[in-house]
Amino acid sequence: MDSEKEKSEKSALSVSSGVKQPSSVNKQAFELASKKKKKQLSVDAYVKGIKDQDLVILSQAITIIESSKPSHQKLGQEIIQKCLPFSGKSVRIGITGIPGVGKSTFIEELGSQITDNGKRLAVLTIDPSSERSGGSILGDKTRMEKLSTNKKAFIRPSPSSGTLGGVARKTRESITLCEAAGFDTIFIETVGVGQSETAVHSMVDFFLLLMLAGSGDELQGIKRGIMEMADAIVITKADGDNLERTERAKQEFKNALHFFPLGKSDWIPQVITCSAVSLAGLGKVWQTICDYVDKTKSNNWFDTNRKNQAIYWMHQTIEENIKNNFYLNPLIKKRMEETEQSVLKGEIGPFNAAYQLLEKYFQQNKI
Ligand code: GDP
Repeated sequence: MDSEKEKSEKSALSVSSGVKQPSSVNKQAFELASKKKKKQLSVDAYVKGIKDQDLVILSQAITIIESSKPSHQKLGQEIIQKCLPFSGKSVRIGITGIPGVGKSTFIEELGSQITDNGKRLAVLTIDPSSERSGGSILGDKTRMEKLSTNKKAFIRPSPSSGTLGGVARKTRESITLCEAAGFDTIFIETVGVGQSETAVHSMVDFFLLLMLAGSGDELQGIKRGIMEMADAIVITKADGDNLERTERAKQEFKNALHFFPLGKSDWIPQVITCSAVSLAGLGKVWQTICDYVDKTKSNNWFDTNRKNQAIYWMHQTIEENIKNNFYLNPLIKKRMEETEQSVLKGEIGPFNAAYQLLEKYFQQNKI
């Protein structure tokens, strides 16, 4: 008989705990990449390998993008620049939901169906937990076992360190490399805490929110803003005893969405129930994504949105660099603590303190 612990783990509503971040989930690619780890190729060799769909070289190139070493950053940018003409041809899909909602099971099953139909799928993740703890909510080694040995799939977990903005930028850059490597479908997975959804939303064509039935959206910590971003809400685990509840939830979400204003895409967000166990509804999810792509390509939103996103990422990168440059400046680092102390003691106001530090910085940089 199952122990209580086993029972709760098997429950459809169980919540996965955080696990240590693995360096890679794509086993074959990781093992091969580890063997060849030391050897650094030329820019052209990386680009050729990526275009030849060599997943080991793709993995290595992403590792270079993720590295904070200045020499790697320069090399990474050169690789991206040369891959750009071969990128952009995929459909980028954001997938979010709280831990336990069924993201990995859903990705595993939907991913297997679309690769069976001839698609090549890259799954990238943005894990907001890694910044703080070094651990990960998403990066379980046992997640997506089928896909991790599927030759048409490439799974890459979140960059394991850095600010959310930095992690998101690296994922955005990895999309370019995956597209140049011929992946025509890109899933970007994240977990529902707010900021990471905004980051994912700003790099995808279609945004999918996975929800559980019957626990109330406020209980799931899903903010209205996240629901507003969704192009489709998928109620997961529509099987067995849960079927009736998921149908009810579908109606409730439909009613709730009714009050949201239509976005610029002119697309009416859909609510779909599905089960990654019985596989019911997965086809409908994929069809909805295809319908969205058709519609937004014909009304030009698909293109406009991508251009807006490119400008957004340009500004994000400028902001992040300026911020880093300021905070890593030796003089500022030296003055920061004493200025903070002065603010705490009430000797100087916070705005004045900020202006003084900025003035020092600008003077030093002669801006
Ligand atoms: P994630 O944390 O969002 O990635 O969620 P998981 O995919 O790990 O799923 C959490 C739990 O829900 C696991 O025990 C799964 O087996 C279970 N689960 C996932 N999808 C379904 C489904 O469609 N039906 C049922 N009954 N259980 C599911």
